[in-house]
Amino acid sequence: MQIRAAVFRDDTLRPNFETLTMASPGPGEVLVRIVATGVCHTDMKAGGPGSPVPRPVVLGHEGAGVVEAVGAGVTKVAPGDHVVMTFGSCGRCRSCEEAEPAYCHHALSLTFGCKRPDGSAYLRAGDGAPVFGDFFQQSSFATHAMGRERNVVKVRKDAPLELLGPLGCGVQTGAGAILNDLRLKPGRSLAVFGVGALGLSAIMAARIAGASRIVAIDRHQNRLDLARELGAHVSIRAGEAPVKEQVLAAIPGGADYALDTTGVLTVMRQALDCLAVRGECAFVTSPWDGSELSISVRSLLHGRKVRGVIEGNSNPDVFIPQLVDFFMDGRFPFDRLVKFYPFEQMEQAFHDSEEGLTVKPVLRMA
Ligand SMILES: [Zn+2]
Ligand SMILES: [Zn+2]
Repeated sequence: MQIRAAVFRDDTLRPNFETLTMASPGPGEVLVRIVATGVCHTDMKAGGPGSPVPRPVVLGHEGAGVVEAVGAGVTKVAPGDHVVMTFGSCGRCRSCEEAEPAYCHHALSLTFGCKRPDGSAYLRAGDGAPVFGDFFQQSSFATHAMGRERNVVKVRKDAPLELLGPLGCGVQTGAGAILNDLRLKPGRSLAVFGVGALGLSAIMAARIAGASRIVAIDRHQNRLDLARELGAHVSIRAGEAPVKEQVLAAIPGGADYALDTTGVLTVMRQALDCLAVRGECAFVTSPWDGSELSISVRSLLHGRKVRGVIEGNSNPDVFIPQLVDFFMDGRFPFDRLVKFYPFEQMEQAFHDSEEGLTVKPVLRMA
């Protein structure tokens, strides 16, 4: 079949909108007609310089849509089902067997390999040359995307499907860090460093978990204002007075939990330095260049813990429907983060995201 897709042919983050040929789904594969797809920072990093992703490639990994066809052996979903597409996992390694698919031992190749396990391409350009797809096992910057049975999650049909794509990565990452990994206890305090899509999702989740005091730290005043509306008790503008002193003034004794969503080493260190005795800090993104962080071991000895968390340590089949229920109950208004753009205005969406004008761009296919 013919599909319309945004193809990245170089490292300038400029999409070419092309008509491609897509193969029919093979065993275990699920063909999804994309209704809308979120834009995540990983897409922008993967489309820019220094990316590990091959070219030409179709990016996109927050797809939401309707199942159009399924390959042999697929039983989890059927044509007509509404689905959110999420990260891939092998289903056979120890992490997958223990229902911790975010830590699948094959995550890197499934996320950035951009081809089927047998090496074959399911996308071809107009001249017949193969185009890499399968980014996060979906490549959702297209009218249609090929998922696997394990990374498509069926969602209730009364939920607004065009809104749900970001639950597959960014929103799940922030909310999951709080609910699945830190498991924030009621009455405890939280400091969130960086309140883009991940941080704001974490704040909404912390409200659900019963946090007593939530402090939001960011460079952008518009995001801090939104953080306050979504549940933060205190907002701190980074870059003005020293952040650590302000956090400690807001939470005497330090934060029980801290979350860094920036991946900026100096900010990550601040997150650690704001922790109370026995406090726990989570990092959900890292510097793209692999640079390393120094920490105070003396401080750590006082029961403080630091951990890395991928994709909110989520089991998506359980967690995404739960987030949809929270949204439908009015307890998790992540629609407040979203601004819709037509598919062809992808570059504008990238720009607005980079500039902090839009928290979570979502591209609508029609
Ligand atoms: Zn992402
Ligand atoms: Zn696995």
